[in-house]
Amino acid sequence: MAQNIVDRRDQPTPLCAQCGKVLPPDGPSPDFCNESCQQWWYAKRSDKKAA
Ligand SMILES: [Zn+2]
Repeated sequence: MAQNIVDRRDQPTPLCAQCGKVLPPDGPSPDFCNESCQQWWYAKRSDKKAA
């Protein structure tokens, strides 16, 4: 029992909502790895009109 090691598996690794990559710690957003992905994601959303 290595109780001195903190198990953080209950905290899911944040992934980019657009490309699915692991987010960089200094990223511009908690949901996207960079601004390009953020813009793509919003562009796709606004493009789909309740299909
Ligand atoms: Zn991304």
